[in-house]
Amino acid sequence: MSGPIQQRDAECEDELLAGVEAREGRRTTVGGLAVKRVLPTKGRRTVGAWCFVDLAGPEDAENPDPMEVGPHPHIGLSTVTWLLEGEAVHTDSLGTEQLIRPGQLNLMTAGHGIAHAELAAEPPFRGVQMWVAQPEATRHGESRFAHHEELPRLDLDHAEGLVFVGAMLDATSPAETDTELVGVDLQLRRGITVLPTRTGFEHAVVPLDGRIKVGPEVVEPGWLALVPGGVDELPIEASDAGARALLLGGEPLGERVQMWWNFVARDRDEITAAYEEWRDRTDRFGEVSSSLERIEAPRPPWLPDED
Ligand code: MN
Repeated sequence: MSGPIQQRDAECEDELLAGVEAREGRRTTVGGLAVKRVLPTKGRRTVGAWCFVDLAGPEDAENPDPMEVGPHPHIGLSTVTWLLEGEAVHTDSLGTEQLIRPGQLNLMTAGHGIAHAELAAEPPFRGVQMWVAQPEATRHGESRFAHHEELPRLDLDHAEGLVFVGAMLDATSPAETDTELVGVDLQLRRGITVLPTRTGFEHAVVPLDGRIKVGPEVVEPGWLALVPGGVDELPIEASDAGARALLLGGEPLGERVQMWWNFVARDRDEITAAYEEWRDRTDRFGEVSSSLERIEAPRPPWLPDED
């Protein structure tokens, strides 16, 4: 290839990488468990179809929060559960009971409706809870659950990866997703790793351990780096050994999602209907076998007060 073309490509890539944005997550709680929520973030609801990313405990290693989330419903999304430490048991209204350990994937797809519970079997619990919005074509469909014990490994210049959804180079996850996605857990060595990203995808990098540089932006755990579409070589630099981060990406969803509580929908009426059916215990969400207490939905703020 001639010089000028390569140079123009490099300039174009630099321009795209100048669009990387660092965003700080916010502290909140899920069923009493302290979490740092990095997606959604201000002005941005989705990255590909990824619509929710929570980093869970332990903030206080001496007194870790128990990971106990009682039966609760979901619609219109897949939950991607990724453990960093400990073990947890997932139960759902399909009758699933599944132990998950670090390096394994639980992928639960709600469709029209599902209910589930999570209980830490082996504390301390540390994990990442992610949601993926389902597209119009599948979001009213049947629910399903898959557990993947073996996931493909990836070797890069200064990093090793575990591909939990989608593909990178010749490592392809067996997980079935409703939209084109990628999710890789990267263990970074000191130096620069250039990730071969797909130009049709938008991406986010979620630091788990250590401070890293994504393009020109420095981010640390509790933060998110948003990477615009068009990038096909994403440089990540770790200045310390032992840095770890998730790369998440996918085709832009192209649908405006509305999220409230545990529901991913397109408008308030759909959310109101799901809220009422969970409250009224209709068979939409089914029964979960769990020793934990059922979680009641708060009343949607747009509904008129009761009496
Ligand atoms: Mn859930």
